[in-house]
Amino acid sequence: MSPETLLENPSLTKSLNSASLTETFDTYVMNTYSRFPIAITKGQGCRLWDTEGKEYLDFVAGIATCTLGHAHPALIDVVSQQIQQLHHVSNLFYIPEQGDLAKWIVEHSCADRVFFCNSGAEANEAAIKLVRKYAHTVLDFLEQPVILTAKASFHGRTLATVTATGQPKYQKDFAPLVPGFAYIPYNDIEAVENAIADLDEGNRRVAAIMLEPLQGEGGVRPGDVEYFHRLRQICDQNNILLVFDEVQVGVGRTGKLWGYENLGVEPDIFTSAKGLAGGIPIGAMMCKKFCDVFEPGNHASTFGGNPFVCAAGLTVLQTIEKDHLLENVHDRGEQLRTRLRAIAQKYPTLFKEVRGWGLINGMEIHEEVSLTSPDIVKAALEFGLLFAPAGPKVLRFVPPLIVSESEIDLAVNLLEQAIEKVTHS
Ligand SMILES: *Cc1c(COP(=O)(O)O)cnc(C)c1O
Repeated sequence: MSPETLLENPSLTKSLNSASLTETFDTYVMNTYSRFPIAITKGQGCRLWDTEGKEYLDFVAGIATCTLGHAHPALIDVVSQQIQQLHHVSNLFYIPEQGDLAKWIVEHSCADRVFFCNSGAEANEAAIKLVRKYAHTVLDFLEQPVILTAKASFHGRTLATVTATGQPKYQKDFAPLVPGFAYIPYNDIEAVENAIADLDEGNRRVAAIMLEPLQGEGGVRPGDVEYFHRLRQICDQNNILLVFDEVQVGVGRTGKLWGYENLGVEPDIFTSAKGLAGGIPIGAMMCKKFCDVFEPGNHASTFGGNPFVCAAGLTVLQTIEKDHLLENVHDRGEQLRTRLRAIAQKYPTLFKEVRGWGLINGMEIHEEVSLTSPDIVKAALEFGLLFAPAGPKVLRFVPPLIVSESEIDLAVNLLEQAIEKVTHS
């Protein structure tokens, strides 16, 4: 299929003039993002259309969020129905939809209970607070619990989660950061053992280790199975909680429902957000065994787990199950990696490696090459393919979980044209 085919779309209305749109936007919206120069106004499945009527294949999915793609009939039905019935009442009252979503998650994971909030950062904040209360009240009444996190990790932008994020570029200018965090290299068991020993002093010791099963923002780096097995043992032997940030890899993204299933170990606490309600804002913190550590008044969220978002979340999860999407994620992931590896082989001086699980995949550019991932993203955008950088040297492909075989083929064809263009200009 040629890229021209992508441009044919009669159904779109050009309601916005893009020049005035960006002018208004840049005048009134706070300048916290460097944006690609398009505005999307319509979506269907894995396709998006911008204000000019140009069609794109969407391998960003709202940053690994639009699990069922765009305008999915099941999501349309459930949110339309729920907004008419009841959308928000607060957690002062029982919310049946919240109970149903929590039940589904508990029945399909290692968790015993769920706390709902609105974003990934907020879910991680809840996990951090739970770890601290556990350390203070249960675990040797620790006064100075330390949480180990990984270098090149990403856990969010609130003060505690940006502190947990092991990347100085996100922390710069926001000191003083939150105390009680220390960093270790990812997939390095010796570093864990050393840190546990080094930090054990007086009333201070490691209370939890918080990691992504696969590092997303940090460059799509899968966790090492042996490392995580050993880590689980070390945590058990030392009374340390193992916390997984599944905000990006949970909810089917890796071809398993939860990222930890790829590692063969279970966490004590894990968090979810991005894909959980298919693009409706939600966050969730799951824990097992010591769920009673949080008591009424300890933690809360006004919007968290409202009927609207929980009905959407349950529908997303049920659709993954009913439509056998995990199989699709597995098969389409294999197909995508095979084709990306062929491209990497064709351009060996440009690309170093292709890696990933299911439908979260990265393609790394050699360090010494001057070309960056945003350069290739920008070029691909012109050919009608959207995907996202994960740092300056990794291309990240996270399409909706419903992506088809022909859409994967088309995306890689478009990517190849973009690469040809940037390498010949
Ligand atoms: C995106 C992300 C977060 C932050 O989620 P927000 O909803 O933006 O707060 C946290 N952890 C991981 C692994 C993420 O990918």
